Amino acid sequence: MTDREQAVAALQEMTDPKRSAGLMQSGRVSGLTVREDGTAGLVLAVDDLTRAEAQALESAVGARLRAAGFAAVRIIQTSERGAAPVADAGAVAGVRHVIGVGAGKGGVGKSTVAAGLALALKRRGLAVGLLDGDIQGPSLHILLGVKERAKATADKQLLPVEAHGLKMLGMGLMADPDKAVAWRGPMVAGALVQMATVADWGALDVLVVDLPPGTGDVHLALAQKLKPSGALVVTTPQALATADARRAVSFFGVVQVPVLGVVMNMAGMPAPDGTMLYPFGKPDGAGLGAEVLAELPLDPAVVEASDAGRPLATGAVAEGLDLVAARLAAQLGL
Ligand code: ADP
Repeated sequence: MTDREQAVAALQEMTDPKRSAGLMQSGRVSGLTVREDGTAGLVLAVDDLTRAEAQALESAVGARLRAAGFAAVRIIQTSERGAAPVADAGAVAGVRHVIGVGAGKGGVGKSTVAAGLALALKRRGLAVGLLDGDIQGPSLHILLGVKERAKATADKQLLPVEAHGLKMLGMGLMADPDKAVAWRGPMVAGALVQMATVADWGALDVLVVDLPPGTGDVHLALAQKLKPSGALVVTTPQALATADARRAVSFFGVVQVPVLGVVMNMAGMPAPDGTMLYPFGKPDGAGLGAEVLAELPLDPAVVEASDAGRPLATGAVAEGLDLVAARLAAQLGL
């Protein structure tokens, strides 16, 4: 077990003072990190607690982690939860929250995280849709092993495909998926808006939109036309990737889409002897301009699962995404 897993295990034994859930499931804890010197750090959302309750919880969490063997514990209390902007009358009919998943750079696992996050939100009992906004390089249908194609109703509404309990749409689910490859930017952006707004999503709590890498027309269209509640930025710890992630964070700032957090993917890899290897460098969230909500390990089982079109519901990556989902659900008041 890695140190972070020990911390998670210790906190999992605690119950939330206000919610009928474990402390790790209620969305109260985020940003849990363990440094090499044995210092555990985390953010505690205390917006629904009195000052005394918040202090008592902080002491209890600190004591529990020290009892689990952590040399020092650093806890930051935040009352930001619940204060996150909530979309007014949604731009996508029937959808309460549109969330964009972006990345500065390709290949960092953005689509894997978008699909995994959608499934994690679904595991929380929410009604979730997944839109592949990577118009010219769709991959979600492959990742989730969907062979079916979207159909249109008599009145020309698109019908999302149901897969793994999610409602899905994307160019990869259209009859002629290769058509978009030659499109120019504005047409690509138009396709995203069309798919989102001409579809019959039913009633959704969240529509997760997997964006293309970088920042371009599609991102602008999301910001301007789909009234997103926020965006998540995915990166690996590699300096090349974090520099681009920082640009993506500041882009969303400029177009006034709140950045709900950063997911640090392929952050480390457990070696057979239990130590951690860092193929992309040690994760360092400083200077990204947004909070790192989770560090997901590099797990070869994820590659196998996505090649086979069978997303993982268990394992360290899925667990990390459960934490991200809990945090987002809390931020959006779901
Ligand atoms: P992007 O959407 O950023 O281009 P993908 O989600 O397609 O990236 O992921 C790129 C590759 O990395 C895929 O083969 C995927 O299976 C793999 N991958 C993503 N996240 C992880 C992880 N945490 N551990 C191992 N492999 C991963």
